[in-house]
Amino acid sequence: MARYTGPRCRLCRREGEKLFLKGIRCLTKKCAFERRPYPPGIHGPRKKGAKLTIYGMQLREKQKVKRIYGVLEGQFRRFFEMARKMPGNTGENLLILLEKRLDNVVFRMGFAHTRAQARQFVRHGHILVNGRKVDIPSYLVKAGDIIMVDEKFRGNYELNSAIEFHKQLPKADWLEVDYTNYVGKVLREPQRVDVTHPINERLIVELYSK
Ligand code: SF4
Repeated sequence: MARYTGPRCRLCRREGEKLFLKGIRCLTKKCAFERRPYPPGIHGPRKKGAKLTIYGMQLREKQKVKRIYGVLEGQFRRFFEMARKMPGNTGENLLILLEKRLDNVVFRMGFAHTRAQARQFVRHGHILVNGRKVDIPSYLVKAGDIIMVDEKFRGNYELNSAIEFHKQLPKADWLEVDYTNYVGKVLREPQRVDVTHPINERLIVELYSK
């Protein structure tokens, strides 16, 4: 499955806000956006403060959400079509579907520093769902699912450093985690309020409805 492999800080600078794609580094002075809060490239500093058109705002919002969740255009579009067929608000459905992705859940539980790292753990078969290996990052979890780190992987340095870091942070209240046993549970389906990053999903729906 294709994924973005270029410089991640560049994405934050392009979107004009911190997307927190690099874990702990994002909270330090090394954050590229803190040092250069303007778009990358030779025209970046000049474009600072330039006004976006409505289409520009819609496009940037869609790109921002894709980048936060590490999803490329094709899969994002498929998620959007799924959201559209579901009852209720399409924009909210889209964000809920993205939240339910296994790589996002592994990250939210604190078993990885970033969604990109969580995705790698899933792809490499280190994550079990209800006792069975699931190596598909876009797998959608359900309420009641038990997410567990494979026993053979529990000594991994990156995994344990992510756990140590996330132990200090508040957890999403739709998830429960037991770090001693490297296991977590999906207590309920996520809702719109559980998406903490500021996102205006209405702009994405407008963009795709043209
Ligand atoms: Fe974005 Fe800063 Fe994290 Fe880089 S370090 S990914 S610029 S928030």
